[in-house]
Amino acid sequence: MNLLSTAILTTRSDNNDFDIHSVDFLVDGVPLYSATNAHHASLAGRFSSLWVAEANENKVKVLLGESPADLPDNRIGLFVCSRCGSLACGGITFRLTRSANAVRWSKFAYECDNDYTDKEFARYSSIGPFTFNFVAYREAIEGAAASFSGRGP
Ligand SMILES: [Zn+2]
Repeated sequence: MNLLSTAILTTRSDNNDFDIHSVDFLVDGVPLYSATNAHHASLAGRFSSLWVAEANENKVKVLLGESPADLPDNRIGLFVCSRCGSLACGGITFRLTRSANAVRWSKFAYECDNDYTDKEFARYSSIGPFTFNFVAYREAIEGAAASFSGRGP
């Protein structure tokens, strides 16, 4: 089993005008934002003060496997466009598999709108798969969303 935790991630907007506050995901203490090189693509975490509270709450359900995944194949965005939050602009994604007591993250990739290649999987092959106890996982995900409960910057 792996352990998921989260931390506030502060990045700069594209034009360097303002700070963007979002959430980094750490597995066994290793920050995935840097492990996946998400900074090269100016991405932000899935949960962010940029979106309204309802959007963050909807994302909790997606990450818990209780709402449909973002993309076919149960693929879910972890780090997304810092301007609009969409995967159409490209983002770091993974495949979510849910069982009764565990959640598994595997097949990390960088993709635009479900357009990914084997090459992308190869590039991220050193990351995951990760398996989390579902109760601890839910706590971490809900805690991340609660960091941005709508009062925003
Ligand atoms: Zn965008």
